[in-house]
Amino acid sequence: MIAGIRNSGCEKQVWRHNDLVHLEELLEAADPETPKLIAFESVYSMDGDVADITAICDLADKYNAITYCDEVHAVGMYGPRGGGITDRDGVAHRVTIIEGTLGKAFGVMGGYIAADQVIVDVIRSYAPGFIFTTSLSPVLVAGVLASVRHLKQSSVEREGQQAAAAYLKRIMAEAGLPVMNSTTHIVPLMVGDPVKAKRISDILLAEYGVYVQPINFPTVPRGTERLRFTPGPQHSTEMMDELVQALCEIWERMEMRKAA
Ligand SMILES: *Cc1c(COP(=O)(O)O)cnc(C)c1O
Repeated sequence: MIAGIRNSGCEKQVWRHNDLVHLEELLEAADPETPKLIAFESVYSMDGDVADITAICDLADKYNAITYCDEVHAVGMYGPRGGGITDRDGVAHRVTIIEGTLGKAFGVMGGYIAADQVIVDVIRSYAPGFIFTTSLSPVLVAGVLASVRHLKQSSVEREGQQAAAAYLKRIMAEAGLPVMNSTTHIVPLMVGDPVKAKRISDILLAEYGVYVQPINFPTVPRGTERLRFTPGPQHSTEMMDELVQALCEIWERMEMRKAA
């Protein structure tokens, strides 16, 4: 999304993360006649927090702006039909453009935007990144269609994932591990040191057979390095118990601090 904004060559202003007061200040200061687009994500991938999409759409209406919401970390996983947070919150019709991936929850590859036909046509006709790229193969599309159709009518996976994430957050907190209390399926475990984050990830894989990537700068600010867990519906409580046991052993071995 950031690369797209840069490529557009448009003037841009960065509003502080999820800060609607700041967003309104910027909108208020702008010329009402200037075309404006508010770009944001629904579920933020590193802290697992969520944008107040209704409030953003209210501001867009008030200040004559259109909206662009990246739902990549939410499609398939939220909403009664897996449409994302906009589906869950009943605001999909108010967002001008919704971006989703066919990777991540849908488990295949590719991506899409959803918008009114005229906007889709404009992007189809003018976006070089789209025009000069090979289209998705029929094999991928068949896989995606099966995933999308399934997740439109099945919430078993969504409920399973939410239950797994809630369980993992609870047992990490009970074990005194510095888990960040997100409101989504994203479970960040704070380390606060890039070398240690990488080392913990290496030990987990080599000694415990658990794969989790360290998240370091520049993906997150320095000092907030972390491991980011995203449990799925197939992760059993036994697996998560083992994981927390392993983390406790590693925490002790590396003489890391635990919560009281
Ligand atoms: C993964 C990701 C994308 C890109 O999705 P791909 O399908 O891998 O191209 C876009 N936005 C966010 C926030 C992501 O995390």
